[in-house]
Amino acid sequence: MQIERARAVLAGGCDSPVRSAWSVGGPMFVQASAQGAYAFDDAGRRYIDYIMAYGPLLFGHTHPALVTGLDSLARGGFVWGSTHLEEVRLAERVRAHLPSMQRMRFVTSGTEAMMSAVRVARAFTRRSRVLKFGGSYHGHFDLALPDAGASAESAGASGGIPDGVRRDVDVARYNDLDSVDARIDGRESELAAIVVEPFCANMGFVPPEPGFLEGLRERARRCGALLIFDEVITWLRFGLEGAQGRVGIAPDLTALGKVMGGGVPIAAFGGREDVMATLAPSGDTFTGGTHGGNPFCVAMAHRVLDLLENHPEYYAAMRSLAELLAGGIRNIFAQRDLHYAVVQQESIVDFKFHAGAANQNYDDARRADLRAYAAYYHHMLERGILLPPSQNEVMFVSTAHAPGDIDETLTALEHSLPQQ
Ligand code: PMP
Repeated sequence: MQIERARAVLAGGCDSPVRSAWSVGGPMFVQASAQGAYAFDDAGRRYIDYIMAYGPLLFGHTHPALVTGLDSLARGGFVWGSTHLEEVRLAERVRAHLPSMQRMRFVTSGTEAMMSAVRVARAFTRRSRVLKFGGSYHGHFDLALPDAGASAESAGASGGIPDGVRRDVDVARYNDLDSVDARIDGRESELAAIVVEPFCANMGFVPPEPGFLEGLRERARRCGALLIFDEVITWLRFGLEGAQGRVGIAPDLTALGKVMGGGVPIAAFGGREDVMATLAPSGDTFTGGTHGGNPFCVAMAHRVLDLLENHPEYYAAMRSLAELLAGGIRNIFAQRDLHYAVVQQESIVDFKFHAGAANQNYDDARRADLRAYAAYYHHMLERGILLPPSQNEVMFVSTAHAPGDIDETLTALEHSLPQQ
């Protein structure tokens, strides 16, 4: 009923294709409300939520420090149209954690941040080609979609992308420097940027092999191209210093996104001062927008940083919950003699339905049994566990999840696995 109603007015019944549950054969989950670690349907049924809005909700849906006192923010107005002091202070705070972002701009979504970073890289290098990795997702702008992961996986993501755009994109295999070399050899002088999710979370979770990101750093430098880290998922989820702090590599440009707003739309891109100087008014390259630095969203981002800077124990708490979940899943698999690799880092947990070593790239990820995942997804939903309706996504744990939620999840999982 609700699904029909949604389909009658929203294209495909949704604003983002993954939500339609097409990849698990539908029907889509229609949500009525949310609280803490839980999503609720319109019958009031509670589901333990591991989608967590696809990443932004480090603190669950309704952390008091984020949802109280909003009236006073609203009284100042929602959007101003002038550079303002809190936006400057936010940029200073971001840079204190990510020193590679010498200059930055705030935007609204991860898509916009990545699209802008790529434009700046092309403008700075005066080149067009971009190298990216199969199974990565950088948003829904033209250049990002060929061979993208997440819900852009299907052939259905090819419409509306001009041939010229395709010609300027090379797609290499993640964790495979030989495949990078094969794409760039002989074309070094055409390459504007290498674009990478430093830890991939859009083909399931795939961390970088030792030396891979260093290899990209070195190749970008050698070609005179820029290295762009898409930290839309990793910044703040992997700590205040993000993936770049963790691996000790400074990209030339970085995109930040959803996590920084704690649920409200704010994102950023930035990097080397000389590179960002290509932007108008100092340079000839344009980005801009009504909601860039929106004061309400900036205030929320300050709240998110306040929480994380003042509560380092939050990371430990999320990590130990994720370890509990991953360890519990591994035990169940061992008892059942199932050889699916369970990967966990910080608050991300993931496994795929194919036996053997953990995935290294999109070719591995594509070998997973999609029908097994679809069946598992539906069984878990029946038992009150809301998983992402696509095998390309991962489970996110938040500070709102409790050990009891993990126990409940593991019990449901024991009864939801494919029968041997
Ligand atoms: N980059 C990455 C790594 C992402 O995971 C996403 C969204 N999941 C994006 C970019 C796009 O962000 P948005 O949906 O805010 O446009």
